[in-house]
Amino acid sequence: MQNETQALCRCTKCGNEQKINIYQRINVAVNPELKEKVKNGSLFIWECPKCGKINLAKYSILYHDPQEKLMIWLFPEGEALEKQIKIADGQTALLEEYNLRKVNDISSLIEKVNIYDAGLDDIVMEMCKYVTKMEMEEKEPDKSKREKIMDTEFRFYKMNGPDNEISFSFATEGQLQGVNIGFNVYEDCRRILQRNPSIMPEPGFVKIDAAWLAARIR
Ligand SMILES: [Zn+2]
Repeated sequence: MQNETQALCRCTKCGNEQKINIYQRINVAVNPELKEKVKNGSLFIWECPKCGKINLAKYSILYHDPQEKLMIWLFPEGEALEKQIKIADGQTALLEEYNLRKVNDISSLIEKVNIYDAGLDDIVMEMCKYVTKMEMEEKEPDKSKREKIMDTEFRFYKMNGPDNEISFSFATEGQLQGVNIGFNVYEDCRRILQRNPSIMPEPGFVKIDAAWLAARIR
């Protein structure tokens, strides 16, 4: 079921080649421990037995959460595996109620798992990021800083407190920063999306990110 297999990885420090166990797909209802390993990133790291270097293993994996009706396909290699996604798209009629996502990096996969774990929706979340950036842009007096805000990558960090405040993290000039928004922003964005079904994605595996949203609403 989990399709555990082996891949040959090269240590980025000493060049040692090591066979490591990887998964082609995981079902986190069957193996909840693997969900934790996705969330803390440990599913993608391996330690070189020769020099001790901690390496990142970049491989494609299909993350499946049947309870959340969520599938996220991670393709670190980018374009090379587009064909496989197309084949899978042919089967997505069976998965109509599913949210089908593709991502190209591990942190995007982790972010989406965290969003759905918090009971939230990643499309609404992209809208929240967008309006939050717009507000920050309006308030920023420094022109050079203002110009960079829309291109800054925001990540959902957590939802916290009795009022379900939503925290984003982002990096500016090498510093990790955070910004909090009220849950009312999330609810407003959800209502905007409900009123504008044309913004919603086509069936199949979709890459939902800032660029996707910007293309839909501009
Ligand atoms: Zn090594």
